[in-house]
Amino acid sequence: MSTHEEETLLALADPPVCDRCSSMTLLLAQFPHSWTKARGEDVNGVREAVLCPACDRGQPAADKLLELFAKDGKLDFADVETFAELVAAWIDSVRHRPLDTAALNNEHERWRRGEL
Ligand SMILES: [Zn+2]
Repeated sequence: MSTHEEETLLALADPPVCDRCSSMTLLLAQFPHSWTKARGEDVNGVREAVLCPACDRGQPAADKLLELFAKDGKLDFADVETFAELVAAWIDSVRHRPLDTAALNNEHERWRRGEL
C-alpha cells in the first residue's frame, strides 16, 4: 500500500450520468486507488464512482446514502457528519469491489466452501 495521503473528491453539483444505466446520478466520488500488479509493482491511480439510485440500490452502504438523498431530493447539510460517514462507508464498499474478477472469485470461494 502507498503511504501518501488519501484524498477523496466529491462532486454533488453536476455528477455525470451513470455508466451502467445512463440515468442521472446523485454523486460522483474520485478517490485514490492503488493496487499491486502480478509482478509486484505498485500502481497508484484514481478511481471514480457514481452513486446511481437505480444500480446501487440494494447495497447496504449505498442504500443509506440514497435514503439521505431521498428525504427531499437534496441533502440535508444540517447533518454533514452523518453524510460524511455514509459517504466514507460507501466509498469503502466501492473501493473493495474488485472490477473484473469479483464474480469469479466469489464463485470460486463458494465452490471452495462447498456451496456450489
Ligand atoms: Zn445506474
